[in-house]
Amino acid sequence: MHLTGKCLCGSVKFEAQSDGEAADRCHCKMCRRWGGVYDSVFVPSETVQIEEGEDLIKWYESSDFARRGFCSNCGSNLFYHADRHKDFSHLYAVSVGTLDEPTNLRVKKHYFCASKGDYYEIEDQLEKLETY
Ligand SMILES: [Zn+2]
Ligand SMILES: [Zn+2]
Repeated sequence: MHLTGKCLCGSVKFEAQSDGEAADRCHCKMCRRWGGVYDSVFVPSETVQIEEGEDLIKWYESSDFARRGFCSNCGSNLFYHADRHKDFSHLYAVSVGTLDEPTNLRVKKHYFCASKGDYYEIEDQLEKLETY
C-alpha cells in the first residue's frame, strides 16, 4: 500500500510502502514523552523515500539501538527506527498521524500496555501486549 505523509509545517514530505493495513499503538513512556501514545505503521526501511526536506530531519538516539526522526522546524515526530537492532533495523515505524488520508490503515494492537499512562484507560477490544 502506497503511503504519503508530511510534517505539520509541510517542509518534510515522504512516501513509503506498507505490506498491510495494520497499525500499532504504543503506550511506552518514551513514546508518550516524545509526544503521546504513538500510532505507527511498520514499513520496510528501503521503501521510505524523503521527497522534500531531508536536511530538516533531525535524528535523536532514544536508546542504544533506536533513533527517532522529527522535523527540526515544526517538531513533528515522523519515524521510529531501531537502526542498531539486529531484528528490526530493516523497518521504520512511520507515524500514522503524519500520513495523508485515507490511510487505509487500522490500529490492530496495543504495545507496552504495562507502561501506559495513569491518566487514561485502554477500553477497546484490540490485542493488548504487555511489552511488544
Ligand atoms: Zn515540519
Ligand atoms: Zn513506544
